[in-house]
Formats: sequence, structure tokens, C-alpha cells
Amino acid sequence: MKYISTRGGGQPKNFDEVILTGLAPDGGLYVPDSIPHYSLSDIAAWKKLSYKQLAFKVMQPFIGDCVPERDLVGLIDIAYGSFNHSATAPLVQMGHNEWILELFHGPTLAFKDFALQFLGQLLDYMLKRKSKNVVIMGATSGDTGSAAIEGCQDCDNIKMFILHPYQRVSDVQRRQMTTVISDNIFNIALKGNFDDCQNVVKASFNNQSFLPDKLQLVAVNSINWARIMAQIVYYFWAALHLDIRSNSISFSVPTGNFGDVFAGYIASKMGLPIKQLVVATNDNDILHRCLSANDHSIRPLSQTLAPSMDIMISSNFERLLFDVHGRDGECVVKLMEEAKRGTLKLSDEARVGIQQLFTSYRCDDHEMLKMIRSVNKSNGYLLDPHTAIGLCAARHCRADTQTPMVSLATAHPAKFPDAVKQSGCGVTASLPNHLDDLFSRVEYMHILENNQDDVQQFIADRVGDLAGI
Ligand SMILES: *Cc1c(COP(=O)(O)O)cnc(C)c1O
Repeated sequence: MKYISTRGGGQPKNFDEVILTGLAPDGGLYVPDSIPHYSLSDIAAWKKLSYKQLAFKVMQPFIGDCVPERDLVGLIDIAYGSFNHSATAPLVQMGHNEWILELFHGPTLAFKDFALQFLGQLLDYMLKRKSKNVVIMGATSGDTGSAAIEGCQDCDNIKMFILHPYQRVSDVQRRQMTTVISDNIFNIALKGNFDDCQNVVKASFNNQSFLPDKLQLVAVNSINWARIMAQIVYYFWAALHLDIRSNSISFSVPTGNFGDVFAGYIASKMGLPIKQLVVATNDNDILHRCLSANDHSIRPLSQTLAPSMDIMISSNFERLLFDVHGRDGECVVKLMEEAKRGTLKLSDEARVGIQQLFTSYRCDDHEMLKMIRSVNKSNGYLLDPHTAIGLCAARHCRADTQTPMVSLATAHPAKFPDAVKQSGCGVTASLPNHLDDLFSRVEYMHILENNQDDVQQFIADRVGDLAGI
């Protein structure tokens, strides 16, 4: 399978070339040039597979012969072997045809582990085979950072620089990043918000001349196709565990960078009979406004109790725009310029296309806290703030009660104790055993000004050995 840029430039690339880079040279994002398609009976035949076996079935066609099948089985085995639940992604029933898909049983307690445990294995494998060293640079609103660090910490061919917004991630999130002691991991607390972090990272990918010759940047943000690919698997997993033979299934997805819900979109293109994909946002609701009212104006970022969704510019929305505009790269270039200025308007045709599958809802902190409280009372179940937003949106947007609605539980409640406490539900979640001593570990991080040159100099000063200097 080949990959092309959403902005139409350059030649089609192979899977390994796409994974070992970031944005395409024209500034676009890579997408597969075609999507494999399965019939309902093909899909139903996967019902008895384990999570690892299903991951192989779903991902292999996207990888093709870039990784021999036997090696791919090994990478998947290690990646999902680190999960703390026998079902890997268990389903929990909340009500009539209402389910929660728990995606927080990986090492860092958020769904990001599904993609980054695998991407870590994949990068290590590819770089060793090619005898190549790379620099990873990534921005995190809280969860990507720890998941990437956990996934890549043992890879000698990598140095990793993770930017998080200073004092805007939860204590648990920060400590999960800053207490990993490794020569190849650097945590940068940037004095800005998540979009500032993402801007520095994007600008660095666009011009890598601050790095020594021969070295290149690799992305671990969801602009990296491998992240999306690994997330497609659990949409199939959930559907196979509910009865989807003729019925369809719906998902509600707490959304920030649009990566997770875009994986659901790809699952639907692959033949999974998805009825609705609900885009759940917090106060930072640009996607909700865009989908519901064609309003893509940019507003100041607000800091909410669901910080992993405090994002204004959602990178992966570009991948959807590409598809609903007839895969016309030139058109996407124009749209992205408008998006940057906040003047993006979707054509009626594109909106109709999007609305066939997507709906959206904004749930603010107040409503989210109410949700945590009421679900704890009715079900004895503790939601994290992101999942609460997803469930709230699911209940608002649900088209009917016959179609199973699955809300993705993107994080463990123990990651966000402040929100849980503020909800007044009266219970607290404790961290799993492997994180028992998190608050007594020593922290390492570097606090830098929101300044691209400072960040780039910081990195350049620390990667000479990778380039053999
Ligand atoms: C990253 C994250 C999200 C948002 O996912 P996107 O793929 O960026 O849309 C939602 N919830 C949690 C807990 C996250 O870590």
C-alpha cells in the first residue's frame, strides 16, 4: 500500500517512509491511497480472534511487506502484552444498548497506549534494521507524552523531546512523564498552551535545519499514520463483541486532535457498519461549531478539567477534509489556509457528506461534573472527565435506542483526581499498583520560554552523539 499527502504534493510513499517522518514535504498529512474493504461476513469471521490477532488482521494490509508477517506478530505481541487487563479493551454496560469501551488499561492509563506501545516497537524495529538514528519531537496536552515516553524509552536509536504546556497538565500526567529517567528522554515544559507547543513542533518539522546533518525528526503525534492505524482495531473489537450482524453500531469519542474519531471513520470505510460517530468536545468546541453550524472561527483556548481535549486546531481534521473534497489536494491547501485564519466554510456537499456519519456535542465542565456524579450514583461507576464528556455527548446525540452506542473511555479516573473530587461524587480512584510510588519519584524537566529558537537550540545541543558528532 502506498501513502499520499492530503495536499497533493510529492510522490506516493511506502509505509516505512511515512512512519519515519512527520508531515509530508508539502505540509500535508499522509493517508493511504486506498482503504481495504471487508464485507460483514468477512468481519464476522474475526469474532473469535484475540485482541492481538485482530490487531494483526486490521493493521497488516496497511503495512504490507514493509514488515514481514512473522515480525509483525512479534511486535504486536510485545505492544499489547503490556496491558493490564485480559480483554485488553473490555466493554462495560452502562444501560440499554449503552456501553463503555475501557481503553485505559495500558501502562500510562489512557487510550494513547494503544497506538504508542505499538509505534514504539515499530520504530525500534525499523531503525535497528536500517541502522538509523532519529530525533522524536512531540507536543502533548498531557497523555501523548507519557504514552510516547513509555513506548520509546528503551530504543537506543532515538532521542525524544516532549513539549507539554507548563502548569497546564495534571500532576499525575506530568509525573508520568518527568519521572521516567532515561538518557534519551527530555521533557520540556513550555510557557504557553498546547497550541503553542504544537506550533513549535510543527514549525520544527517544516524546517529541520536546526538539526545536525543526517538527522531527521519523527512524529509521535497523531499526524503519524501508525497512530491512527493502531486505533482502528478497537472499533472492530467493540463491534465484534456486541451483536453487529445486521444492526449497526455507534461510537462517541472525546475529541481533541481528531485522531481517535478519525480512526473510527477509517473503520467505517473498511466496512464496519457504523451508524453514528459522535464528536464530543469540551468548551474548546471548534469542531462542534464547525460540524453543527459551519463556524470554524478561532477563539481563545480555555483551560478545562478535561485538559487532554484543550485543543483548538485539530490536525487530523485535514484528513477528513481531504476525503470529503474528492481527495483534491489543491482544494485542501486552500481550505487549510482558511482554517488558519478561522474563515473556513465547508461547502454544502462536504457538510452533507460529513453529517451522514458525524454528529457533535459540546459538554462544558459543569455538565461533565454532573455526569460523573450521576453515573457514579446510578451505576457505581467512576468516569474520568474525558469519558464523561463522551458519554454526555452520546446521550444527547443518539439517533435511536436500538443501535448499540459505545462511548470510548479514553482515560482512567485516577489520572484526573481533581475533576473527580470536584464532581462531589464522594469517591476517589486509586492508581494501579505499578504507579503506587508515582508521587515519591524524582522529577526531571526543563522549563523553556514559548520561543521556537530556544527550543530548537535546546534540542540541537543534545543530539550531536546521534549524528556521530
Ligand atoms: C488525547 C486524548 C483525547 C483526544 O483524542 P484525539 O485523538 O486527540 O482526538 C481524549 N481523551 C484523552 C484522555 C486523551 O488523552
